[in-house]
Amino acid sequence: MTEMLHAGATIGILGGGQLGRMLSVAASRLGFKCHIFEPGAAPPAGHVAEKVITAAYEDEAALRAFAAGVDVITYEFENIPTSALDLLESLRPIRPNRKALAVSQDRLVEKAFLNDLGLTTAPFAAVDDAEDMAEAVAEIGTPAILKTRRFGYDGKGQARLTRADDAAAALTDMAGAPSILEGFIEFSMEISVIAARGINGQVACFDPGENVHKSGILHTTTVPARVSEALRTDAVLMAARILNALDYVGVMGVELFVTPKGLVVNEIAPRVHNSGHWTQAGCTVDQFEQHIRAVAGWPLGDGGRYADVEMLNLIGDDIDRVPELANTAKAQIHLYGKAEAKPGRKMGHVNFIR
Ligand code: AMP
Repeated sequence: MTEMLHAGATIGILGGGQLGRMLSVAASRLGFKCHIFEPGAAPPAGHVAEKVITAAYEDEAALRAFAAGVDVITYEFENIPTSALDLLESLRPIRPNRKALAVSQDRLVEKAFLNDLGLTTAPFAAVDDAEDMAEAVAEIGTPAILKTRRFGYDGKGQARLTRADDAAAALTDMAGAPSILEGFIEFSMEISVIAARGINGQVACFDPGENVHKSGILHTTTVPARVSEALRTDAVLMAARILNALDYVGVMGVELFVTPKGLVVNEIAPRVHNSGHWTQAGCTVDQFEQHIRAVAGWPLGDGGRYADVEMLNLIGDDIDRVPELANTAKAQIHLYGKAEAKPGRKMGHVNFIR
């Protein structure tokens, strides 16, 4: 039995965005302090954390100082440079572990890992140059999507191919980055499972949510998802299999496409996930507390859903709706404290109890 971190212990979080902010709030409710490591100035998580270290991931001295001040390290995004992880791992436990990061940082590695587990993904092929591209299009056909293997998020680093003739333009869009061509999945719905695994192997999944994207960015998540009981079971079993295979500790987001032939895994995110924000209003223990519990060696909490919820993201100018939302019943508002609203920037979200 691993020891539970006690109140007063400090959790280090790599990344200071809204996810780090909400993790930090959850941690403080359990009596922990948080230190944030973030290269950017004035991170949203800094408003609610005990300490912020503003430094580059290449700054060894800053990484050492960060590690020295914390009991355990977790993260709110997956693209942490390997060199920083090598150093930090030698100093403090990192949860979730390196394997989860290695798998989810690279779409090609991720798809191969999922297929090895017996899970279905879109058909895919690696594309590094025009020759690979011609072969991949011949093999996979169109429609298809070309994606960079690394550093893609919110639909960035992606180009759609409607016809084979689109191949050259799509390849140009990738600007030479190693890429992957994926066959287009004709899905009826996108769902996600927010799953948690504790330090002793206990697994708990939140009820699957139904996701709607706009311009590649999550727009709403609604629970319950309009899927059968059988499909719901499939979804959580798939997520549990992924967590076990990675010996995972923490919360993970698993995005799935619903198709007539069953569930297809789109991608996994080794962290709390935007499509899990509804848990703040729908569950006794939300995804943020669940993650903190797991990384602190606590037993997982009760994530059972007790309400129907619709989560709406506030993107860019949507922030202007706050006065109206503040007058709306059964609306739980979360704002991230970002100074400037830019198009595509996540400024906050609202959980409507339905
Ligand atoms: P991703 O960044 O891979 O999560 O992709 C963003 C969004 O693009 C997904 O949520 C889907 O709506 C859509 N998408 C991505 N890959 C595929 C695919 N292979 N087939 C159909 N739609 C996709």
